[in-house]
Amino acid sequence: MRSFAYVVPDSVAGAVDALAAAEPGTKVLAGGTTLYDLMKLGIEAPPAVIDIHRLAELTEISTGEDELSFGAGAKMAEVADHPVVRDYPALSESLWRAASQQLRNMATVGGNLLQRTRCGYFRGGAEFPCNKRNPGSGCAALEGLDRTHALLGTRDTCIATYPGDWAVALIAFDAELDVVGPQGERTLPLGELHVEPGDNPLLEHTLAADELILRIRVPATLAGRGSTYHKIRDRESYAFALASAATAVTLDAQGTVTDCRIGLGGVATRPWRATEAERSLIGEQLTMETARHAGEVAFADARPPRTGAFRVELGIRTVTDALLTAGKRAAR
Ligand code: SF4
Repeated sequence: MRSFAYVVPDSVAGAVDALAAAEPGTKVLAGGTTLYDLMKLGIEAPPAVIDIHRLAELTEISTGEDELSFGAGAKMAEVADHPVVRDYPALSESLWRAASQQLRNMATVGGNLLQRTRCGYFRGGAEFPCNKRNPGSGCAALEGLDRTHALLGTRDTCIATYPGDWAVALIAFDAELDVVGPQGERTLPLGELHVEPGDNPLLEHTLAADELILRIRVPATLAGRGSTYHKIRDRESYAFALASAATAVTLDAQGTVTDCRIGLGGVATRPWRATEAERSLIGEQLTMETARHAGEVAFADARPPRTGAFRVELGIRTVTDALLTAGKRAAR
């Protein structure tokens, strides 16, 4: 491992100052569960690391009538097990189904949003063509092992899957981020944080290099109670999704869908909101047929990987099941 400077600010303001004065490539360290991995693999080689994991200002959790707010430094396990968050099963389940208990005890809800793809060529070594690791070198996955790669939001520059779960639930609930940088604070809708691959797939998000995530805010909504997060993977724990769906519905007294949210994970280059599929259910009764139709709408534009074509049907069934589970919870 290369040597690097290690900076420990004693406040958020100090962290922002340190970041503003830092050399290009400096990284912020929160839980460390992703950054240290990437440094060991040689993918990240920051000249300095700014450690914010002891900043108590970043760990506050508040649950008011209008919104839930999670400090970016709160641990995944703590948020997953919060009694109010458990009333929003999609949020809680997306955290519980991520990683392992040890990692959830370390990893933060802010850092989790910025985890990087598990594409084997990206992580496998500098000898593989990979536009995300070495821009302009090509994409080994296009002709290689692509079973777990993305179906939605792909480009020939990169077909890597966004690996997270938490962001998939957050996008379904219209979450927003408060971020801070040298110019002060701003609010960033979660749906505008991640970007699809462009000419340079190294660009994965819209957070500036000198900005920190302060907190994640989720509007309180009735749909939260009728929600779930379904995650389908090769083994039942400590694995990334082959397909996942965060769904939430609200039903009126006649059982008609009045609100519907669908986030997709494990199938797209970014956390994916299936808005057309949501619209297809509004005003309908939630049945196996209408739920299945919504799943088909969600995957209508899917571009299946050569060795992972089964994941279109898997994704449709995941959405179908998740909608029916959400509907049962909404009807209680
Ligand atoms: Fe690299 Fe993306 Fe291609 Fe994977 S899919 S090899 S991350 S360019």
